[in-house]
Amino acid sequence: MIRLHVTSPLAPAAPVAPTLDQSRYLTQVMRLKAGDELLVFNGRDGEWRCTVAEVLKKGVILRAEEQVRSQTFGPDLELIVAVVKKARVETIVEKAAELGARRVRLVLTKRTNADRIRLDRLDAIAEEAAEQTGRMDVPAVDDPIKLDALLDGWETGRRLMFCDETGGAPAVSSLRDAGEGPWSILIGPEGGFSPEEGERLRSLPFTTAVSLGPRILRADTAAIAAMTLWQAAVGDWAR
Ligand code: SAM
Repeated sequence: MIRLHVTSPLAPAAPVAPTLDQSRYLTQVMRLKAGDELLVFNGRDGEWRCTVAEVLKKGVILRAEEQVRSQTFGPDLELIVAVVKKARVETIVEKAAELGARRVRLVLTKRTNADRIRLDRLDAIAEEAAEQTGRMDVPAVDDPIKLDALLDGWETGRRLMFCDETGGAPAVSSLRDAGEGPWSILIGPEGGFSPEEGERLRSLPFTTAVSLGPRILRADTAAIAAMTLWQAAVGDWAR
């Protein structure tokens, strides 16, 4: 069944208004008509079976019928990634949504080769990937922030899996030793972190510097590998 992410509240008999683009997708691509069913979630009220109530020129109106799953969230994992080429950032956002990250944060580092970032496009990619995976929330994608500012404002209690291609510890055992809790994964830019950035990152008390093996990976491959290892070691693949 079609799954759609909306912003409207979901409650018994509530009218639900998808965006114009979503309405076009429902009627012109998927050819839904009044009375047809689909699944809808908003990241707060669980997943609902809805029916198409009206097909109007200015969009479709849905009606929430019944909740079919209650709201759940995955583990508190965020992916922090240095801005790389646009196509790679888009892949990273899509895979982060599929692999269960709650949030994607873009950072600017000394060697960041910044391509223009279109946050609206990244949000749409995250939303589409979340609809397809069956998850009940859509990961937020944040505006780029400087690495130093991000580290200065670090949330108390959050751990950092620093993917260090210059030689970190084996990932799975290091993550298990550090334990559960909110985690962030950090992936550097194509040119890697500068020596000063690497030094600062390794010296922080909340950091676990890990290796992703003896080969240098592209940032998008590294992000996918790191999220997979994290999920298997301390995330919801480990339960
Ligand atoms: N400094 C490298 C160079 O130019 O040779 C390349 C950096 S790599 C393309 C981008 C990022 O992916 C790195 O900063 C790191 O966070 C992550 N990464 C890639 N391979 C890795 C590995 N084998 N172990 C840990 N992290 C890795």
